[in-house]
Amino acid sequence: METIFIAIVIILLVVIAVRSGSGGRNKYARYYGARKCPHCGNKIPGEVSVCEFCHRDVPKVF
Ligand SMILES: [Zn+2]
Repeated sequence: METIFIAIVIILLVVIAVRSGSGGRNKYARYYGARKCPHCGNKIPGEVSVCEFCHRDVPKVF
């Protein structure tokens, strides 16, 4: 009985570590706050080629 409980705790810790680690964080960093628009200075996703705030062309990073 005790070993099953310990196993469940270990599994939960692994799931939490995987979720908070590589998954969501890198995705977020790739999006908002990745860089600033050179024209208006607003934070924009790294993947866009047109600023969503001032609608001017921005150099695409990749
Ligand atoms: Zn802009």
